[in-house]
Amino acid sequence: MAFEGLASRLQGVFGKLKGKGKVSDEDVAEAMREVRLALLEADVNFKVVKQFISSVKEKAVGQDVMKSFTPGMVIIDIVNKELTELMGGTQSKLARANRPPTVIMMAGLQGAGKTTTSGKLAKLLQKGNHKPLLVACDIYRPAAIKQLQVLGSQIGAPVFSMGDQASPVDIARAALEEAKANNNDYVIIDTAGRLHIDEALMEELRQVHAVAKPDEVLLVIDAMTGQDAVNVAESFHSQLELSGVVLTKLDGDTRGGAALSVKAVTGCPIKFAAMGEKIDSLEPFHPDRMASRILG
Ligand code: GDP
Repeated sequence: MAFEGLASRLQGVFGKLKGKGKVSDEDVAEAMREVRLALLEADVNFKVVKQFISSVKEKAVGQDVMKSFTPGMVIIDIVNKELTELMGGTQSKLARANRPPTVIMMAGLQGAGKTTTSGKLAKLLQKGNHKPLLVACDIYRPAAIKQLQVLGSQIGAPVFSMGDQASPVDIARAALEEAKANNNDYVIIDTAGRLHIDEALMEELRQVHAVAKPDEVLLVIDAMTGQDAVNVAESFHSQLELSGVVLTKLDGDTRGGAALSVKAVTGCPIKFAAMGEKIDSLEPFHPDRMASRILG
């Protein structure tokens, strides 16, 4: 499960603090050194770690931790709140267009989980009594269109495709008409990815963006790739104003660095987390719950 290493290290550090009746300045300093190391080992961006530690220390001084009866508990509480803030504070909800359909554009590198996540998001929206339309704009990866169609039929959601000969821009334009004609209140556009970011990919995404005028641009990133995921998010964000991130593969053995750094580095909130290959394994991302899970 994700964050196992980080969680057990932090729980170890705070277990020691909690056990003490009296906590010295040196105890706190030692705990902070260990937290710093644990975060770095979990592959959290070093600038983010530095900022995090100094912010926790500042709050600890501000709250006169040492004068409290339970200094260990107060520090854990501060760390919990700071971790929550680091991941965006409150849950960041999906935008909604004033006039339907709400258009969601999915972007990301190949293999990050875009197509799978498009299907999962459609399912989540259906549970909220919405009528999503899935749109197959990834015309390059040979199996992507079929994969989306299979996902669509599995959940009973329509999939708009024009095969792999039409341009993604034309497909997006026609899909919006289709959604209006069929009263689909959400349109989820699955776009092409590449193994690496390149100019041709970005140009195509910008063109689809210009036509689809999405209310949400969600970047799908693979949590297993750690800081690489954060770098990918940074470059996508600079080219294509993102509105949020979906972290996938949190069921895997990820160290957690991406989850803890992406908001701080890019300013984009994590809106959803995917924790498995099954269609119902997508959840809204709750920073407070994730922080509590990490701290145990
Ligand atoms: P795309 O190229 O970005 O469209 O990626 P796909 O949607 O085809 O996903 C690539 C692989 O990752 C597939 O085998 C998916 O089943 C798998 N995958 C996607 N999301 C998750 C997840 O949250 N957990 C796990 N374990 N696998 C996932």
